[in-house]
Amino acid sequence: MDNCIFCKIIRGEIPSQKVFENEGYFAFRDIHPQAKTHVLVIPKVHVKNVLEADEALLGGLFHTAAQVARQEGLSEGFRLVSNCGKHGAQSVEHLHVHILGGEQLGEDMRGK
Ligand code: AMP
Repeated sequence: MDNCIFCKIIRGEIPSQKVFENEGYFAFRDIHPQAKTHVLVIPKVHVKNVLEADEALLGGLFHTAAQVARQEGLSEGFRLVSNCGKHGAQSVEHLHVHILGGEQLGEDMRGK
């Protein structure tokens, strides 16, 4: 999608700290980290949020998130957060999962 910031990151039009990429998914460090490890995992296809995603896309998203968490050394545990919609504090309308691991730095995303 032309004006989507995450689509621009996938296309390399906006710089990002990429940590993982495969055919369908892309992962990069959040610009405002809320935890020692804060990575965003997104599908390459533009889908607004979980309400608009099908089972296969969501399955792949969580599978990729687990793979990235493992790669980041988060074997002790982590949280996966996907904000959805205006009242769910979603600020970027491109489906994403936050991987939050280690010491928390900012506000608690569970309370967002
Ligand atoms: P959400 O509030 O769930 O929609 O989360 C969107 C996240 O995207 C926020 O945590 C932002 O800090 C993050 N974000 C926005 N722009 C960028 C960017 N250019 N690079 C990395 N993370 C970003």
